[in-house]
Amino acid sequence: MSKLYNLALDEEMTRSARYALLPTYSEQVPTVADQLDENLGELGTGRGFKSYLGMLAGKEVLVVSSGVGGPSISTVVHELTILGVDTILRIGTTGAIQEDVHVGEMIVASGSMRLDGASANYAPVEYPAISDHRILGALEEAAAGLGLNAHTGISATTDTFYPGQERYSQEGRHVIERFRGSMRELKRLGVLCYDMETAPLLVQAGCLGVRAGCVMGVVVNRLIHESVDITQRGEIEDNAVKVAVAAMKSLIA
Ligand code: URA
Repeated sequence: MSKLYNLALDEEMTRSARYALLPTYSEQVPTVADQLDENLGELGTGRGFKSYLGMLAGKEVLVVSSGVGGPSISTVVHELTILGVDTILRIGTTGAIQEDVHVGEMIVASGSMRLDGASANYAPVEYPAISDHRILGALEEAAAGLGLNAHTGISATTDTFYPGQERYSQEGRHVIERFRGSMRELKRLGVLCYDMETAPLLVQAGCLGVRAGCVMGVVVNRLIHESVDITQRGEIEDNAVKVAVAAMKSLIA
């Protein structure tokens, strides 16, 4: 097998790992790999996607950055499944849209609203974006075990951070009619939060016959603030990583 175009990986390099953790940014990848039982080091970077390999509970685990947005994560997930990965856990951040979901807490996505475009390249919009129930349970248990508050529910995956999530920076010139009032409507529908990657991941997992799930740290409550306070981001992301690694460990076991 030659190296895949985007990830620049082949099965020999990944040692046919079946498990993958997907933090969003390439800078997070070494940090996540350090949380495994053993960090076997960097495999390389392809088209901006950084990959590390490590060992957890006796099995090979890949750590690969998903990048931001559906086109990016769908490319990563697609190539990981070609490489034989069958269990994928995304580690992300999110903006909450419910009063009782606070900054610093975790959200475990049971499913996602498909407000993105990439997931429609894999299945018609009627096809659900739902999490694997074993991964969902493992993430909930891991968060509880770490003493972290976690909410399980639906996220809304958008293609844009600004208009799609109804952000009015620059006087809102870019927010088209369709999105005005959309956050309140999602809130009324019980949607917990916004993100930019979960729906394509879950739809692809369903179509491609692998299991996937997602844990996200809440970095802003959009009912209070529009912008993210980046000073708190590091600790929140670290907690999401801990939850994902503990959940992956129990899934492997
Ligand atoms: N990620 C998002 O997509 N939206 C937010 O508000 C925060 C993180």
